[in-house]
Amino acid sequence: MFKRILIANRGEIALRIIRAARSMGIETVCVYSTADADGPWLEHADESICIGQGPSSDSYLRIDRIISAAEITNAEAIHPGYGFLAENAHFAEVCRDCEMTFIGPSPEAMGRLGDKVSCKKLARAAGTPVFPGSDGAIEEIDEAVEVAQEIGYPVIVKASAGGGGRGMRIARDEQQLIEGIESARQEAASAFGDGTVYIEKFLEAARHFEVQVIGDSHGNAVHLFERDCSSQRRHQKLIEEAPAPGVDPARRDAVAESAAELIRRAEYCGAATVEFLMDRNQDFFMLEVNTRVQVEHPVSELITGVDIVREQIRVAAGQPLSITQSDLSVNGHAIECRINAEDPDRNFMPQAGLIETFSAPGGPGVRLDSHARTGYRIPPNYDSMIGKLIVHGETRDDAIARMRQALDEFQIGPIRTTIPLHRRLMDQREFVEADFDIHYIERLLKKEEQAATTDVAGV
Ligand code: ADP
Repeated sequence: MFKRILIANRGEIALRIIRAARSMGIETVCVYSTADADGPWLEHADESICIGQGPSSDSYLRIDRIISAAEITNAEAIHPGYGFLAENAHFAEVCRDCEMTFIGPSPEAMGRLGDKVSCKKLARAAGTPVFPGSDGAIEEIDEAVEVAQEIGYPVIVKASAGGGGRGMRIARDEQQLIEGIESARQEAASAFGDGTVYIEKFLEAARHFEVQVIGDSHGNAVHLFERDCSSQRRHQKLIEEAPAPGVDPARRDAVAESAAELIRRAEYCGAATVEFLMDRNQDFFMLEVNTRVQVEHPVSELITGVDIVREQIRVAAGQPLSITQSDLSVNGHAIECRINAEDPDRNFMPQAGLIETFSAPGGPGVRLDSHARTGYRIPPNYDSMIGKLIVHGETRDDAIARMRQALDEFQIGPIRTTIPLHRRLMDQREFVEADFDIHYIERLLKKEEQAATTDVAGV
């Protein structure tokens, strides 16, 4: 096992990795930017090293400086966390060239699953359900028109190298399809340097369903069941839960097993998430594979008892997974709320600045993964997520009750956070009854906004 690992990340995930490493007797080195010099997580690392200025292009994205930091501090491996360089195959390759273990998949496996066209091909072979659509990249417009007629409109044009929702166009007829392909190609070429696009059936109302998987370098792969992340705003997840409410267990198991088979075929070592959309008939369609640990991994940890970050480190060191599929079962229900320093009443405006009050919730079944505390100054440079509140209960109703109580206890000020929004959502019929799709929060916010304007007009 490694003696020392370097963490190429910041905030709550840096702290999460420190905790996993410590529990395994592994020392940690954190790299940080000048904007994070007071980052509370740095106090828990064995060593910290500044690698540049606040903008991530000058620090957390600087491969040369991160590798140098690892060499200077005698780290044997690098954990990339999520975001920044986590899904950068070039970074994984540089690590390998420098004889540094990348705690994640090989650059080849990352490429096979990270490119959407090649991933879809592998998925078909593994029996993972995919969207009906073009078999591969679209070369000629005629070909796209033909496929669209076959699968029926609406269709969606997507970039093979896509990410962050860019390079996507919805087409409801042939005219829109022709225009969509052209503009998606251009957008993808300038955003990703690769203008390859493909088309698939577009689902109007669906739930976001994803399967947590982990593979090792001995050909083993298991799934840790699924998460439902339908509670989103602008494709950003706000609430995640496990298991997915109301899904037939036999269908769930079949799709989860197909996800494990997909990473087995990709010769994938590490944690990954296979994302799907699920329609009203509980049919599944794969969206993409994320080749890293995800923000929402704790809900899967709480229902399975597996420490996912620990498994990542184990398999990166060449050890076999500590669990087999038959060891795993679903225990209870877990919900996570992302606590963002954003003002939900002002169009989710990011809030930087000093936290004067930070009073954390607690009690049975409550977990808080956060790097924030009283006296912490949130820098303006990074993602606005300052923590994740995760609860576990015997049933989904128990978990919701626990989450309400925890949110009531949680005090952060004077900066605004998403806590009050989460508290309202925990009382919404759509959430409580799991009668939702990926657009329900946006519909609710719109309704609330309309009600507020009518109130004002009424006065
Ligand atoms: P990205 O990598 O850019 O995030 P994804 O493939 O994950 O792209 O898609 C992002 C979002 O776009 C999904 O979460 C979903 O809301 C929507 N989407 C993508 N493909 C489809 C589809 N075929 N039908 C309906 N919605 C889709």
